[in-house]
Amino acid sequence: MDYISIIKKHKTKKNLGQNFLVDKNIIDKVIETSSITENDYIVEIGPGLGFLTKEIRSTNIEVIEIDQELIPILKQIGNIMIRNIDVLDYQIPNIPFKLIANIPYYLTSPIIRKFITESLNIPGLVVLMIQKEVAEKIIAKDNKKSVLYWLVNLYGKPEIIEYVSKDSFYPSPKVDSAILKFVPYKKPLISRPKKFLDFIKICFSGKRKKISTTLSNHFGLPKEKIISMFNSININPCLRPEKISLSDWEEIINLF
Ligand code: SAM
Repeated sequence: MDYISIIKKHKTKKNLGQNFLVDKNIIDKVIETSSITENDYIVEIGPGLGFLTKEIRSTNIEVIEIDQELIPILKQIGNIMIRNIDVLDYQIPNIPFKLIANIPYYLTSPIIRKFITESLNIPGLVVLMIQKEVAEKIIAKDNKKSVLYWLVNLYGKPEIIEYVSKDSFYPSPKVDSAILKFVPYKKPLISRPKKFLDFIKICFSGKRKKISTTLSNHFGLPKEKIISMFNSININPCLRPEKISLSDWEEIINLF
């Protein structure tokens, strides 16, 4: 039976972001990007009806699916560990693993935080199908960095592997997608990423404002004081946060 006929036998749940991948070429691309070997430990989020899962050639597969009604179908695949839970309650394994997911779009940031930013065991490789615009934000395609950009880029290198039309899914979502590959660095680019992220979040809260204005408001310091602090490190206090480089951020953070 073809993918769409299988899906039509079920009542898809919009609130769980159930837009199933039905384009075999794209499924193959996700698998190829994951460069799976037989002994890799694979964690897949949101396997749905298992179209992607069935193509994973590994002996160690763990899937996390919140929808109880899909569990009997996933059980038919055999030889996979099924967790019928919300991925946000999932306990990350303490062994090396690869993460694959065609995830509901509303879960993109929580999943990035859970598996990359806040994880003690970052996956060796992450391959995510996500909304095209979010993927472009993660790589700062327009050269404008964001909190999301830093949440990912401090920890590794993201890359858009392929754009995916909304027609590759059934039911078709409103937006196009992209396959994002993320390869983590051995350690984050800076020694105290949490402090860095907390600080830049303050600065990005006034995204369209000059950084001196946002910092002056936040710390209750006179603007002239902030400007002279910036002058002391030769950084323009009129910069907008989306244009600030990592080395400049580090210098700015050291002032506070
Ligand atoms: N991987 C399948 C595919 O590509 O055809 C399905 C992808 S569909 C976009 C997202 C899947 O994630 C659905 O099966 C949905 O039930 C599941 N899901 C939604 N929210 C979830 C959550 N919080 N935790 C785990 N799974 C979730």
